[in-house]
Amino acid sequence: MVGSGAGGAAAAKKLQGKFHVTILEAGREFKPFSFSLSALEKLKKTGLFFDEREIQLLFPSMRVQKTEDRMVMVNGTGLGGTTPLSAGNALRMDRGLKELGIDLDDEFEELYREIPITNDHQNKWRDTTKRLFEICREMGLNPQPIPKLGDYRGCTSCGRCVLGCQYGVKWDSRQFLKAAQDLGAKLVTGCKVLKVVIENGSVKGVQAQKGFYPADIVILAAGGFSTPVILQNSGIECESRLFVDPVLCVAAERKGSLQNKELSMPFAVQREHYILSPYFDYLSFFFNKSWRYPASDTLTLMIKLADSSDGSIDSKNIKKTLTDIDKERLHEGVEISKEILSRYGIRKDDIFLGTINAGHPGGMLPLTRQEAETFHNPRLPENLYVADATLFPESLGNPPILTIMAMAKRVSKIIMERFV
Ligand SMILES: Cc1cc2nc3c(=O)[nH]c(=O)nc-3n(C[C@H](O)[C@H](O)[C@H](O)COP(=O)(O)OP(=O)(O)OC[C@H]3O[C@@H](n4cnc5c(N)ncnc54)[C@H](O)[C@@H]3O)c2cc1C
Ligand code: SF4
Repeated sequence: MVGSGAGGAAAAKKLQGKFHVTILEAGREFKPFSFSLSALEKLKKTGLFFDEREIQLLFPSMRVQKTEDRMVMVNGTGLGGTTPLSAGNALRMDRGLKELGIDLDDEFEELYREIPITNDHQNKWRDTTKRLFEICREMGLNPQPIPKLGDYRGCTSCGRCVLGCQYGVKWDSRQFLKAAQDLGAKLVTGCKVLKVVIENGSVKGVQAQKGFYPADIVILAAGGFSTPVILQNSGIECESRLFVDPVLCVAAERKGSLQNKELSMPFAVQREHYILSPYFDYLSFFFNKSWRYPASDTLTLMIKLADSSDGSIDSKNIKKTLTDIDKERLHEGVEISKEILSRYGIRKDDIFLGTINAGHPGGMLPLTRQEAETFHNPRLPENLYVADATLFPESLGNPPILTIMAMAKRVSKIIMERFV
């Protein structure tokens, strides 16, 4: 198994016992961001923060890259992959898979039994969130609280969900990893896999920076940015269908709104090609010069877009630009967000935008109708599988963790049926 994020951990847990699973993970132990944000806010005034990639110096489990046209890409590089950085959102998003004839009901049911998923954060919402929710309701936008992974009774509303929860409230894939290890799975951290070694059409193992690891079956779950690179390094072409779910925040000054002290993304409005959700965007706050008000006085709504499958990654570059239709949809989201904020009492002229950033990469080896049963792309050797966001046929514009884990469980089931 390569990778310990959403897909890797779910597959490792499912397969350990039937197989001797070894998880090779490039990152090391995940540690929540420990620095005081108010101290950093003071430092921000000195103009020291100018490039989003600086964040990695303080927070090694978060990787920030930039595309050729400077869109900011974020993913997790510690144990648990990107899941410890998540907002904890747990939505079943398999409409596109259903259209291919894939029914993951059993896998989702299994996940709902294994993971605490709850809406009980709603009773902790601050007045700002309650008012935004009410305005969305009045506008007929049908806002819905987002179910969360974890047990939120102990949530302190510290607002640091995407920096890693220090209170153990949020569930992330390290819990599946631990379950797999308890059953005997081996975990090797700091182990970056470079390529899959293929001989006579069959996988023999993987070549990592640390050396060669033999294997009878290899599952790649290194995430939407890394799995395609490993495949390409192994001589297996991927498709230039990278999506990333770009996020753009629409913000304004609102004294005492305290959104920086609210759990991330308490509710969402679902639109056809994007969602809207309250979200304090740390990347824009620290690095975007328009974000000049104190964190506690900055009110912001996020637009998360289901972007066109039109991008690619190789070992050097990420190529991803917003298409005209992506820009049109983002513009629509901005206009609705402005209307919400104006109903909150903010002058539209005082509203400013954030930096476009994205953290849901996938789609470069997409499932098709032909693979609905096998979950196995014919260009892969028989004993090589992919079990992460790379499999998505298109962008969700929505939180993908739950659906990635359901796909990884299906891949594991198929492997057990084929190889045990
Ligand atoms: C700030 C933020 C908030 C988010 N919030 C949510 C949310 O609330 N809900 C939700 O559903 N989704 C959320 N997401 C998205 C979600 O976390 C990811 O889409 C999901 O974790 C992807 O799962 P994955 O298995 O494809 O990859 P990942 O979880 O990224 O795991 C990939 C793993 O592979 C490892 N790896 C990479 N390359 C190699 C290599 N060469 N060799 C060995 N190991 C390697 C990585 O270190 C990582 O551990 C969020 C993302 C971000 C950035
Ligand atoms: S807001 Fe709640 S869930 Fe989020 S990091 Fe703080 S304690 Fe954890």
